[in-house]
Amino acid sequence: MECVFCKIIKGEIPSYKVYEDESVYAFLDINPVNFGHTLVIPKKHYENMEEIDKKILCDLIKVVKKIGGAIKKGLKVEGYNINLNNGSVAGQVVPHFHFHIIPRLENDGLKLWDQGEYKNGEAENVLNKIKKEL
Ligand code: AMP
Ligand code: ZN
Repeated sequence: MECVFCKIIKGEIPSYKVYEDESVYAFLDINPVNFGHTLVIPKKHYENMEEIDKKILCDLIKVVKKIGGAIKKGLKVEGYNINLNNGSVAGQVVPHFHFHIIPRLENDGLKLWDQGEYKNGEAENVLNKIKKEL
């Protein structure tokens, strides 16, 4: 079965379109964290950061910047979160690459995540594992 975001791009499922160009489509998230919550997606189907073409990724992030500015001005918010849930373990539900732009309001109650700390040697160990794959 074809993915829901591909259907949105084809117009088979309705959406509140924010922006469109030849490679990018942006629309309001149907269940907004805050009003104006926008999804920015490639028109071509890529599942995740590993798959996506680098040029398309650049196209997307430029649109994120453009819409982020428009959200700040238009909705008179002072900031926004840009979120990418990459993989189901990271909360990705729709397997079509997408950035979330989430307008933030003072005291909107959105809590992002708890943070921990490294103990002796743990940071170096992690660092080595990541850097050898770069
Ligand atoms: P994620 O958890 O990162 O995969 O986010 C998927 C997002 O897509 C969720 O925030 C949903 O609310 C949103 N979503 C799912 N279906 C639709 C739809 N038909 N129109 C707009 N947003 C949708
Ligand atoms: Zn798709």
